[in-house]
Amino acid sequence: MPASTLPSPCIGVCTLDPATQTCRGCHRTLDEIAAWSRLDAPGKARVWQRLGAQPVPPGWQRKRCAGCGAPFGCGAAAGTCWCMQLPPLPVATPAIDCLCPACLDAALHRA
Ligand SMILES: [Zn+2]
Repeated sequence: MPASTLPSPCIGVCTLDPATQTCRGCHRTLDEIAAWSRLDAPGKARVWQRLGAQPVPPGWQRKRCAGCGAPFGCGAAAGTCWCMQLPPLPVATPAIDCLCPACLDAALHRA
């Protein structure tokens, strides 16, 4: 099985909200941030699923995955989107709207 390319949700806004004990940028908990590099693909996908229900940071857009319909945040307009950590999809891929991290990961592995 190929290694997951699921990107880290970190968007470089690494300040902790003392009220919720989560990152103001990516809304992960300290545990999720610390465990990220050890998580397998399903574990990372679960974190992304949870983050899909969180408010998006300023400048970000809330989108729905063109593949599975899952909600996720897109920071392309803010210049800090998680998808910039991933290689671009080959041009042959039919151009649809953005994919959530899990579907983009799957699409990259199909390519
Ligand atoms: Zn999806």
